Amino acid sequence: MGRILAVTNQKGGVGKTTTCVNLAASLVATKKKVLLIDLDPQGNATMGSGIDKNTVEKSLYDVLVLDTPIAEVSVHAENCGYDIIPSNADVTAAEVELLGIEGKEFRLRDALAIERAEYDYIIIDCPPSLNMLTVNALAAAQGVIIPMQCEYYALEGLSALMETIVQIQQVLNPKLEIEGLLRTMYDPRNSLTNDVSKQLLMHFGDKVYRTVIPRNIRLAEAPSHGLPALIYDKQSKGALSYLALAGEMLRRADKING
Ligand code: ATP
Ligand code: MG
Repeated sequence: MGRILAVTNQKGGVGKTTTCVNLAASLVATKKKVLLIDLDPQGNATMGSGIDKNTVEKSLYDVLVLDTPIAEVSVHAENCGYDIIPSNADVTAAEVELLGIEGKEFRLRDALAIERAEYDYIIIDCPPSLNMLTVNALAAAQGVIIPMQCEYYALEGLSALMETIVQIQQVLNPKLEIEGLLRTMYDPRNSLTNDVSKQLLMHFGDKVYRTVIPRNIRLAEAPSHGLPALIYDKQSKGALSYLALAGEMLRRADKING
């Protein structure tokens, strides 16, 4: 049964999509079967996986609004090794149309019920807001991965996100857990980064991944080639750090499962 992980942070540009694409590719490199769900109408994870968001036949819209089975919507991202449910501007309409549908919070969870068995990991790239799409991700997920930049306002944004997660646990999904907090675009020479990082470790302890993702130009370049960094430049620090993250995740999972 695939483990469903939502990668979320309502703050924009913190590395959600970069984390989704590169974590998915790294899990594939360890022989896991992975489905990536692009939940963001910006379609960055779709494009970054080498799928043209403007020419796909079906998208997440079909899954959420029209009840189209995931198997009919997902496409294989050839260069990345995982399957993806693409997203594009149509999904903006889904967000609005969902509001009139009964059980609107559970559309994604229910759609995944059957398809889950086909995968080891299902990773959801959330948009930078706490809207109905993100609620669908949190209602479907078992774990939340929170990428964050260690900067001054990061902790403030984090407490709003934590409150949302508690609310979701109480009302929609009691099984939801924090899978881990991931420090992205990390620059150890910056003293503010170190301060925020220390506070993060103090508050969240073991929930903070030991792996940090450095600022790395290859991670920023790879999406314009429609590739994960692991394929674009597998020796790059960015690619290696996401491989390390996948390793840390899998070791943690092994420990929990005994
Ligand atoms: P949004 O909130 O808009 O969805 P996001 O949280 O998904 O943004 P990304 O798109 O992953 O963030 O990253 C924002 C920008 O920073 C992108 O241009 C990306 O290529 C770049 N970037 C992300 N992580 C790194 C990194 N570790 N090193 C260098 N550049 C990075
Ligand atoms: Mg994004």
